[in-house]
Amino acid sequence: MFKKILIANRGEIACRIIKTARKMGIKTVAVCSEADRDAMHVEMADEFVMIGPAPSALSYLNMDRIIEACKETGAEAVHPGYGFLSERAEFPELLKQAGITFIGPSARAISALGDKIESKRLAAAAGVSTVPGFMGVIESPQHAITIAEEIGYPVMIKASAGGGGKGIRIVNGPEEMAENFKLARSEAANSFADDRIFVEKYITNPRHIEIQILGDKHGNIIHLGERECSIQRRNQKVIEEAPSVLLDEETRQKMADQAIALAKAVDYDSAGTVEFVAGQDKSFYFLEMNTRLQVEHPVTEMITGVDLVEQMIRIAYGEKLSYAQSDIHFKGWAIESRIYAEDPTRNFLPSTGRLTIYREPESDVNADGVTVRTDSGVEEGGEISVYYDPMIAKLITHAPTRLEAIQAQRQALDSLAIEGVRPNIAFLAALMNHPRWLSGELSTNLLAEEFPEGYKPALPEGDMARQFIAIAVAAEHVHNQRKREVSKSIRPAGALKVEQNRVAILGKQSYSVKVEERQQTLLISIDGEPVRVISAWQPGNPVWAGHIDRDVVFAQIRPVLNGSRVMHGGCSADIVIYRASAAKLMRFMPERQDNTSSKQVVCPMPGLVKSVFVTEGVEVKQGDPLCIVEAMKMENILRSERDGTIAKIFAREGDSLAVDAEILEFTA
Ligand code: ADP
Ligand code: ADP
Ligand code: MG
Repeated sequence: MFKKILIANRGEIACRIIKTARKMGIKTVAVCSEADRDAMHVEMADEFVMIGPAPSALSYLNMDRIIEACKETGAEAVHPGYGFLSERAEFPELLKQAGITFIGPSARAISALGDKIESKRLAAAAGVSTVPGFMGVIESPQHAITIAEEIGYPVMIKASAGGGGKGIRIVNGPEEMAENFKLARSEAANSFADDRIFVEKYITNPRHIEIQILGDKHGNIIHLGERECSIQRRNQKVIEEAPSVLLDEETRQKMADQAIALAKAVDYDSAGTVEFVAGQDKSFYFLEMNTRLQVEHPVTEMITGVDLVEQMIRIAYGEKLSYAQSDIHFKGWAIESRIYAEDPTRNFLPSTGRLTIYREPESDVNADGVTVRTDSGVEEGGEISVYYDPMIAKLITHAPTRLEAIQAQRQALDSLAIEGVRPNIAFLAALMNHPRWLSGELSTNLLAEEFPEGYKPALPEGDMARQFIAIAVAAEHVHNQRKREVSKSIRPAGALKVEQNRVAILGKQSYSVKVEERQQTLLISIDGEPVRVISAWQPGNPVWAGHIDRDVVFAQIRPVLNGSRVMHGGCSADIVIYRASAAKLMRFMPERQDNTSSKQVVCPMPGLVKSVFVTEGVEVKQGDPLCIVEAMKMENILRSERDGTIAKIFAREGDSLAVDAEILEFTA
């Protein structure tokens, strides 16, 4: 196996490749521009080489300099990631001349498939179904109109050298042709220095579905199923998932057979993706083949358990595929959200700056078989610069079912804290709650149709509003307790368990609120309706996590004057909390309820008993720790609310307890 490889990329994909290389025992060399000296991929790699100034053209796209860096460091192979040099056929050629291996397909496959007109011809010859249209360069608007009349409007004008959704225009009738023809052509010339354009039928209400391919240098090619990437903004993917809601086994097989046929036609090796546009009737047509690792590859990794980067490295080294088609099985559902530094409230304007707060959701597998994976290339204090892609991170969730994967996305999005740039998180969170997304009735037009005016966070309503208030009230309770502890001016903490009357204001509505604390549980009444809250949140943490009644809730929380700004599920609200006036407070304050007289200590949340600190017959004082119950990956210490003697202990270490299960009893 290679001893050392160089990663000719930056950001999350460079970090992701380094992780796999490390797992395989391969040393890594990062390259960086002057703007990326402190970037995470540089820090993660075993060594790094500075290859030039910030602009990509002078650094990450500088092939000679990258080859020099390989020679300086003794790197035997180069992984290009995606973007940058990943689809430049000259790059593997130059590497080859220098005796360095390219971790990707052959230069021949890249150039054959890199051009949309050429690859469409190739695909058609290999028996792949292609979008009706003219498979050649269209020279004039008149020519385009003739073709459009043959295939029927609407049609799409596309740049043959296109990529990243650029150089694409929809034309609905002959009167729109001249203008769009001109625009598409100049966009193609500007973006790709190649103004060849072609015309094909526009598949209405389409879905984007693609097949992941893996091939080795010995003629073996397998597929790893599909990904659906229909959630797009301006022909750019935003959310991807695997498998696709649309496909049945038969269609999946047909699509995969065609993808493999195309890959075979060009002796494809390495990882690659064959993209299709699909009608709602499950008809499908070839779009293009991407001859590289794709941004959304993690969803495939999650449902197949195959590490695509590892396979690419092994294939490049010359190994035979270690999987046969029959070894590939699909398990569960995976969803990926792309976190962009783009302000959804300002028409997705890119937003650059320093990440003053950057906290990722916890990544791990929980008991319900839910996995959260964050692929990122930044850390707190890092910079999102104007020079590169605005993608900050990818949140990937995997669960047994689509709904569970969506639920995990909601939680992951709500617990990803970013400040300093304006990310698209709230927009993604709103989308996760959107009925059309939930139903799986997707199309590449969904975002344009459902969010025509862009996106403004909504005020929460109904149950969601109650949750927001509960969070703000619970946060205020913690603040107040802290203040009391700090000043020690009032009675010691724990003694003030009386109900406190408050008025919470959310939007134009005010709610009367009461709070009572009982064994780490806050019993909050909102306009008379009880809500039970458990949380270990502490001031300063940008993410509030806790139980609200039966739900596990994550939310963003920031202090505002007299209250909190809470963001959750794509909604956002400032909640201010006032004490009812002193006189009123006196009048309404109920008699202090002495819940310390209760003999029993019950479990305030479903959880696991980690330790019990007391034994029968022991005397305890108010505030003494009784036991630890673990819930939501947090250890919660239950303290005695009173002085007394322990009569009986019912719970033991290792017990799983339900809410209100009895833990122990006092003598009287
Ligand atoms: P790029 O190289 O920019 O990714 P693609 O050919 O893959 O270009 O097209 C990008 C997106 O545009 C697709 O994901 C799909 O949403 C849309 N698209 C492309 N061709 C068609 C078509 N003929 N009909 C409908 N939508 C299309
Ligand atoms: P896919 O999602 O199908 O892999 P996309 O077109 O959405 O493809 O994303 C890959 C494209 O994004 C690249 O072709 C490139 O245009 C752009 N891109 C990706 N990474 C970078 C990067 N680090 N810097 C600049 N552009 C990038
Ligand atoms: Mg594409």
